[in-house]
Amino acid sequence: MRVSWKVLTASPRSTMLPFKLVYSDDYYLPIGSHVFPAEKYRLVHKRLLETGAADLGDFVTPEPASDKDVLLVTTQQYGNKIKTGTLSAREELEMEIPYSPELVRAFWLAAGGSILAADFALKDRVAFSVGGGFHHAFPDHGEGFCMIHDVAVAIRRMQSDDKITRAMALDCDVHQGNGTAAIFAGMRIPARPLPSASAVTLNPSTPTKVRNVQAGEVFTISLHQENNYPAWKPPSSIDVDLPDGIGDDDYLAWLDNALSSGLRQFDPDLICYIAGADPYCDDQLGGLSLTIEGLKRRDELVFRVARARDIPVMVTLAGGYAQRLEDTVTIHCNTVIAAKEVFS
Ligand SMILES: [Zn+2]
Repeated sequence: MRVSWKVLTASPRSTMLPFKLVYSDDYYLPIGSHVFPAEKYRLVHKRLLETGAADLGDFVTPEPASDKDVLLVTTQQYGNKIKTGTLSAREELEMEIPYSPELVRAFWLAAGGSILAADFALKDRVAFSVGGGFHHAFPDHGEGFCMIHDVAVAIRRMQSDDKITRAMALDCDVHQGNGTAAIFAGMRIPARPLPSASAVTLNPSTPTKVRNVQAGEVFTISLHQENNYPAWKPPSSIDVDLPDGIGDDDYLAWLDNALSSGLRQFDPDLICYIAGADPYCDDQLGGLSLTIEGLKRRDELVFRVARARDIPVMVTLAGGYAQRLEDTVTIHCNTVIAAKEVFS
């Protein structure tokens, strides 16, 4: 099956990037005044164009995912509740964003965008959805600003189209990827210890847990602040439970360790990089201390590893709640710039 998309305009457009940015103004989440800055997608799009980091021809507009695609991950019962607006008050509360039919459309579009970005990544080595990364959504409920899990939908769609067999979800949002871990829990491979922690300065105990897991088809890595939402963290293939306040160098060492360990155990056809901006030191919902520069080095590390191993990467933005919205926009734009530098 072909993944459909349309170019922003009919006229030829110049491009700045060796990859596509999947984007729609309708990624905007209609949630009113909220700690989640729903306008950030439009601001990232605008900044990328204004600074010349990208040109109009670099952007492609997604179509919403089909219900059939969404149901590759989401249960029929929960899908019906969303579509008919019959979530319970408790379910809506747990989602932490106000339900509306417009919100449903925005999440279906995000899932369509991630499908399209995955498809482009397989052709171009890397592609972005300038949105998505709703990693707290489960098959049967939404949580933490996430209604449905766009990245999981994209992985399942690529698998059902026989375009990939094995995917790795690499989650660098400050919050653990609980939805991802729950969705892809299953088959097991033997656990192996991570390499020595001597490369980093953390003490006294290693924060890394390798689950005797899953994999088979989807291997999940999550680097996150241990002392943060979600309270219950279903095990990923590799969880790196970081202590409060960790800075650039330690974070990068742990990321390097986790990614190397994951790729020794598992050979993915696609990496889905969930590039949250909220490990930032000035984030309202995060307690780590990465700088803007450190976050860009994080992105470069991921892209360099993927490029060296010739593994396609699809990128989604996920969280970002900096005190100053422009910092969140900068961090997200830097992820695009890091890919441009590594893949050009
Ligand atoms: Zn987050």
